[in-house]
Amino acid sequence: QAKDAGRNTFRFFDPQTQIALEERTELEAHLRMGLLSRQFVLHYQAQVDSAGALIGAEALVRWAHPERGLLGPDIFIHLAEESGLILPLGKWVLHAACSQLADWAAETRSAQRSLAVNISARQFRDPGFVAMVRSAVLSHDIDPSLLELELTESLLLEDVEDTITKMVALRTLGLRFALDDFGTGYSSLAYLKRLPLDTLKIDRSFVDDVTHDANAAAIVRAILALAPQLGLSVIAEGVETQAQRRFLTRNGCRAFQGYLFGRPGPPAALSSYSTAGSPSHSAT
Ligand code: C2E
Ligand code: MG
Ligand code: MG
Ligand code: MG
Repeated sequence: QAKDAGRNTFRFFDPQTQIALEERTELEAHLRMGLLSRQFVLHYQAQVDSAGALIGAEALVRWAHPERGLLGPDIFIHLAEESGLILPLGKWVLHAACSQLADWAAETRSAQRSLAVNISARQFRDPGFVAMVRSAVLSHDIDPSLLELELTESLLLEDVEDTITKMVALRTLGLRFALDDFGTGYSSLAYLKRLPLDTLKIDRSFVDDVTHDANAAAIVRAILALAPQLGLSVIAEGVETQAQRRFLTRNGCRAFQGYLFGRPGPPAALSSYSTAGSPSHSAT
């Protein structure tokens, strides 16, 4: 017992651990401050159809840090989840996204543009999640069918009962659901069919490999063949090259997202796309 305590004490004073701990504490305090002083912004990445016309966008949060510049979610989302700050941050993201959807609806030409928002597990498990989403949708008076929540496999499967209850409640409101990073988890398509999903997002790691790895190519072909039979639509994420686009198109993919079509950026970046179905849309 004493030996254990001694070891723990030693580890506590390990300078590396101490520095890491201080950095975390500092980052967490800054995160809290950043939320209060509105340092977060949403960037938007285009989602396009086979002709390259805009069908929607994914909202991706950024932190406009006063000293460190624009930080991507990989730097702070994990800490936000661990500290619980993902609750106020996620709420801010959802309201900002709904506000953007309301702006787009006001410009009649882009009325049919959908917006996908990433939801983390801690946020989804919060007992107030459904009420929070409902109030965001109602207060911005948006068409709920244009709001798509992106969930991951691990989130969906950690408490299936709770997952289904919440998804059904939000579906009743009219929201849509996408399964993010599809293929990186362990669930089968048949199992996922029990959940009220609308869209599968094929993970970037498979898209990366389709042109030079037979296994990745086979997996992507199988997803594209099976999904429609299960009533699911598919979008490929992380499309970077024309060769990947051609492979996907040849195998039935109709929706794309990736650097080939545009990087995430401020909302104005989306105005350079033609909109699917609009009079200005010209096939390219
Ligand atoms: P994700 O939802 O899978 O988002 C896609 C990520 O891939 C984004 O990174 C995007 O910038 C990047 N990406 C898009 N196209 C390409 C491409 O062609 N090539 C490459 N190499 N990358 C591409 P980002 O913005 O750094 O976001 C990382 C992750 O952070 C997201 O992965 C998502 O899981 C999480 N995230 C982002 N915004 C939010 C948010 O508002 N709330 C929560 N809870 N998580 C978020
Ligand atoms: Mg996503
Ligand atoms: Mg993804
Ligand atoms: Mg991801």
